[in-house]
Amino acid sequence: MYASRNGVIIPKEEAVVPITSREVQSGFYVYESLRVLGGFVTRINDHLDRLLASAKGIHLTHPFTKESIHRWVDELIEAEHIGDATVRITLYGGADPVLFIVPVELLRYPDSYYRDGVKAITFEGERLFPTHKSGSLLLNYVALEEAKRFGGFEALLVDRNGRVLEGTRSNFFAFSNNTLHTADEDLVLGGITRSEVLRCAKELGFMIDLNPIYLEDLFAGRFTEVFISATSMAAMPLHTIDDLRFSAPFERTRALHDCVRARQWQ
Ligand code: PLP
Repeated sequence: MYASRNGVIIPKEEAVVPITSREVQSGFYVYESLRVLGGFVTRINDHLDRLLASAKGIHLTHPFTKESIHRWVDELIEAEHIGDATVRITLYGGADPVLFIVPVELLRYPDSYYRDGVKAITFEGERLFPTHKSGSLLLNYVALEEAKRFGGFEALLVDRNGRVLEGTRSNFFAFSNNTLHTADEDLVLGGITRSEVLRCAKELGFMIDLNPIYLEDLFAGRFTEVFISATSMAAMPLHTIDDLRFSAPFERTRALHDCVRARQWQ
């Protein structure tokens, strides 16, 4: 099993960072998780643009270009004979910037998750630098562990204003009849799947409201379907948020899910 370190193919077990590094101790890094299917990386341009934008956004300087990272991903796919996989790019900053590309098993979820929905909890907290995908993941980690403790699949982060902005590793959406609601991109991570969901929503004739979703409105029963989106999930319906239930079939979410998955080859 191989990995790539600054463009050099190395054994995977050598893809390590030193605990003595201040940047490692501070979690000063940016990352991306790419979905590879049949050796084809879905939305690689969008992922690399976001990686570089996130680095810039947290003032992480480095010598790497989009073209070289793209080439290194392709070289690793070839060296490792990757068919289906998740490929994680991690870029550490500091005096000695280092960019790792590491393949792991492709994340797949059972059909039942899409048919019946999954459970989420709410968790009070705000991501640091929410528009960037950075290594400041303590909140995400603790919130997701809390969700798992309650048999949940995801934790939805609720900010100080009572707005349910996004999940720990996903964007959050809600339908009220034919209108799809989700927070605008200045408040959350500009998810690559989120933009596909919005494109599909327009194609399917849904209306779009980019005002954030309030917890109060959620619990007042204003929404009929709720779902989360991410590269590994596409659009995944929620059947429960805390003790609030939503019932299948999640027809609108399903239509968006199918549309997003159909577009992944484009
Ligand atoms: N929001 C957060 C906080 C995330 O960490 C992620 C993915 O890791 C997403 C949203 C979904 O982004 P994408 O659709 O690009 O996978």
